Amino acid sequence: GRNDPARPDLLSRRLRNVGAASVLFYRDPIEMVSASGCWMTAADGTNYLDFYNNVPSVGHCHPQVVSAMADQAARLNINSRYLHQTVETYLDRLKETFPDHLENIVLTCSGSEANDLAIRVAQRTTGALGIIVTESAYHGNTAAVTEISPSAIKRGGLPDHVIAIPPPGKQAYGDNIAAGFADAVHSAIETLKERGCGVAALVVDSIFSSDGVFSNPKGFLRLAVAVVHRAGGVFIADEVQPGFGRTGDAFWGFARHDVVPDIVSMGKPMGNGFPMAGIAVRPELLAAFCEDVGYFNTFAASPVAAATGLAVLDVIRDENLQNNATVCGAYLREGLQHLAEIDGRISDIRGAGLFLGVDLSANGDAAQPSGQLVGDVINAMRRHRVLIGAAGKYGQTLKIRPPLCLKRSEVDFFIEALGKSLRACG
Ligand code: PMP
Repeated sequence: GRNDPARPDLLSRRLRNVGAASVLFYRDPIEMVSASGCWMTAADGTNYLDFYNNVPSVGHCHPQVVSAMADQAARLNINSRYLHQTVETYLDRLKETFPDHLENIVLTCSGSEANDLAIRVAQRTTGALGIIVTESAYHGNTAAVTEISPSAIKRGGLPDHVIAIPPPGKQAYGDNIAAGFADAVHSAIETLKERGCGVAALVVDSIFSSDGVFSNPKGFLRLAVAVVHRAGGVFIADEVQPGFGRTGDAFWGFARHDVVPDIVSMGKPMGNGFPMAGIAVRPELLAAFCEDVGYFNTFAASPVAAATGLAVLDVIRDENLQNNATVCGAYLREGLQHLAEIDGRISDIRGAGLFLGVDLSANGDAAQPSGQLVGDVINAMRRHRVLIGAAGKYGQTLKIRPPLCLKRSEVDFFIEALGKSLRACG
């Protein structure tokens, strides 16, 4: 905590070491030392309930995942140019979760690399450059995907080949979100054509997390995807956030919309903290791309990655975590709805399973959610030992994204903390 004499030194060392690229949570950052399940322990002994983190999605330091990783690291860890049983077992298991046409999987070490590869495959196979994304999207940190990540660009606009459209909420499209969003995609395609770029892909996070979490109505993406396909573009579903069972109703977020992606990118929860990511792709698209350049990634698809990823899939299945996302997510939603009846500043609750977005409006007007209030509540929640983040263009949405092993008692803890925090931010 604040009075720990070692902490100021740790913060200044961090700033000295990482400089302007240092990104930390909270003005008074927390030093963490260990974690288990949904809880993280700070250096001063405080336990925090983690409602932010969808990387250790099956639970922090899950023993089965940790031992799979450690055992394989002690036996063999090499690059992917050799044959290895566990690697193919893992890829076969992962493929079972996808529609049949996504026959190939290429592993990478980060979601950024996965999206980078996905858009290069799309651009190569369509012969076009243009990419359509949403206004506050984040798709990663390479040169190419930073250009399609409006939320990461602090100064200057998007390049000519990228068009950002408003996220699929009532705010922009009223009551017919499917038609409105499809129209926006159509106009973007026309503009890209006028600019001589053509359309390579529509890229969306299928739960629109950084835009503020937009999940309903189910199926609203179908029209937009049809528009892109008709124009000769491909549909890339970025599953880095909603994937691996988080939305409860399906293993992948796109399934909620009953759409057929040409490429799926995935990451974050894939290795429960071990850096794993990748794409699932139509083989003919990958083959065309590889005629030109091919793809090799030193660390991806290593035996340790495969053993870790396989353990993650086992735990999701054996502990019924996708179902827990549905059941616990519904319980969490009930708690939020109950709070909303008491406090009119909770102006909208969206999401699916254990991925919820909650707008807070200082004046109760749903059309005017407040980033300031959300920021205040996030800081108050920290004092009540809950870690949570914000989403949306103005940070006006509480982003609720706990590990999938969440328990009812932990939902109760969260709701109580949120109630107290809202009262403290009067
Ligand atoms: N896509 C989405 C939707 C993301 O949220 C992120 C990371 N926040 C990425 C891609 C990039 O993944 P990574 O940080 O593993 O490169």
